[in-house]
Amino acid sequence: MTATLYRATFLHTPESPFTHADALRAETDGGLLVQDGVIRARGAFADLRAAHPDATVTDLRGGLLLPGFIDTHVHLPQVRVIGGLGLPLLDWLDQCALPEEARMADVAYARGVARDFTRGLVGAGTTTALVFGSHFARAVDAFFEEAAQTGLRAVAGLVVSDRLLRDELHTTPERAYAEGKALIERWHGVGRALYAVTPRFSLSASEGILDACAALMREHPGVRFTSHINENTREIEVVRELFPGARDYLDTYERAGLIGRHSVLAHNVHPSDRELGVMAAARCAAAHCPCSNSALGSGFFPLRRHLDAGVHVALGSDVGGGTGFSLLKEGLQAHFMQNLMPGGVPLSPAHLLYLATRAGAEALDLPDVGAFEPGQQFDAVHLAPAPGTPLDAVFRHAPSPERALAAAFATGTPGDVAQVWIGGQTAFTRA
Ligand SMILES: [Zn+2]
Repeated sequence: MTATLYRATFLHTPESPFTHADALRAETDGGLLVQDGVIRARGAFADLRAAHPDATVTDLRGGLLLPGFIDTHVHLPQVRVIGGLGLPLLDWLDQCALPEEARMADVAYARGVARDFTRGLVGAGTTTALVFGSHFARAVDAFFEEAAQTGLRAVAGLVVSDRLLRDELHTTPERAYAEGKALIERWHGVGRALYAVTPRFSLSASEGILDACAALMREHPGVRFTSHINENTREIEVVRELFPGARDYLDTYERAGLIGRHSVLAHNVHPSDRELGVMAAARCAAAHCPCSNSALGSGFFPLRRHLDAGVHVALGSDVGGGTGFSLLKEGLQAHFMQNLMPGGVPLSPAHLLYLATRAGAEALDLPDVGAFEPGQQFDAVHLAPAPGTPLDAVFRHAPSPERALAAAFATGTPGDVAQVWIGGQTAFTRA
């Protein structure tokens, strides 16, 4: 297969700007040589052109080329209920999210939702997502099928619960185990799909359900684990009442054997020092969802405490508690919240890009994606605002790629996403 040489101004963060001062790599009029979906070489366009005269050139000048975004927390069944503003978590679940999640029992309905959802993700420039699936196994199948069609790298699973939601969303430990095992056998490692064992949260999951989840993790090395933690103060109180023997919220998962390198916990707005220490030691990542934390009034994410403790952090959109699929917006909201909170961490454009890309790959233990290193998959998003828009004006006059990147986070939307590639294949093109 002939190689393609992408000509663009590109930026990426192969290393963390939280630990490396020069983590942001930018190339103006750069080249990325891609063959069979894999980046083979990277450098100045003129040099790569001279070295590979036979490659087909794709000219992407006039915008920014970034690694595809990686969303580490997003809910499949909530795409159609984005925007229920004005309620705290537990009321929002009862009134907005759970009635819609119950509709996923109808597999035709679930298929339509899966289509809206994957289009929403990829159209926002997201190429990999850790997805909270549905409480219904057939809806999870429908999602994996839809993701395979789009090309999305999906890490997802059956959401399991056995109390305090709605009857039709409850299962039993035995059924949770059997359905999870069957889904793992059907999907884990098939194409780009990976499976994530997903108890909804300890509030709705008994020790029996958590033990069933742990059995799946033990019996299928390589599957991921995800759930919620420490999102809302009322939620934390209820979990404390439900698990009187647990040291804290994390301990409800930890005691079951669910916390390790392949675990990603969403929110963690109100952690204890013990919890942060355990997460760091286990290399369990936190998915920070700033729009959701703001919309549901959950609180300010203590990024400084996570970093000081050594807990890895990535970004999530938390659709539909969050307000949309764009990780540009999540980056901006993270920046706002850190600016406003006492002791917040000043976030540069490099930090925002890292949190939206490579940090997610590290959280999910996916070394092949998240940056533009030779050997990695060509997962990319081309931001090219329509002519005449303010972002287009900034791009045309930006004194450096870094300033253009800052503007992309400040004012970019899915409308500025011109094209998205996953594994070298076009997954989205703006109409
Ligand atoms: Zn969530």
